Amino acid sequence: MTKLDILVIAAHPDDAELGCSGTIAAHVAKGYKVGIVDLTHGEMGTRGTPEIRLRESDEAAQILGLSARENMGFKDIFFKDDDAHQLELIKIIRKYRPEIVLANAITDRHPDHGKGASLASNACFMSGLRKIETEVNGMEQEAWRPKFVYHYIQNNYIEPDFIVDISSYWDTKVASILAFKSQFFDPESEEPASFISSPEFLPFIESRARELGHRIMTKYGEGFTVERYIGVDDLFDFR
Ligand SMILES: [Zn+2]
Repeated sequence: MTKLDILVIAAHPDDAELGCSGTIAAHVAKGYKVGIVDLTHGEMGTRGTPEIRLRESDEAAQILGLSARENMGFKDIFFKDDDAHQLELIKIIRKYRPEIVLANAITDRHPDHGKGASLASNACFMSGLRKIETEVNGMEQEAWRPKFVYHYIQNNYIEPDFIVDISSYWDTKVASILAFKSQFFDPESEEPASFISSPEFLPFIESRARELGHRIMTKYGEGFTVERYIGVDDLFDFR
């Protein structure tokens, strides 16, 4: 079984790429094992089909060098932060035993993002409770609580608690986003226009990364919010 250092939990395929793929690529390059679990197939999205988006997710996974990617198959828009969904997600957290979880933005334009954030957050806590028993293929799972849950920032601006320098991984981030061909601007596409398929969308993503990079005196950055204060041993670990 693959133990992951970082597990990214995302409501829709492409949330992770848009929100934190620079951070993913930076940590894969350092030798950490990173995986993504998408909660839904994004089947309510204006463009593409679940099959196309699954193919696109696999391509993005290759680009990012992921150790694992899977899809929970929850219902887009209709999934809930309730015990049935929490139990399914607990099984995934106990399977991969990540030290760090990166989850959806705490609040956003799309209601699935804030809902995905609270579902991930609750499941991470509950996964550490021994008395919640789960099994996979007849094998009982051990309790596991990730040390940290951080939330990436998505469409709506949220003031970050820390920013990761992704300048060296900007091209990888863009390539992973463009793997989702059905979703983004394509002058040849005959599908209906959507919020993210406009030619303005990618420049917006770049502006956000430049704004956050600028705040830490680098070219590109990705911001995160924390659920508790971050402790540090050495003040020189900051940059
Ligand atoms: Zn989304």
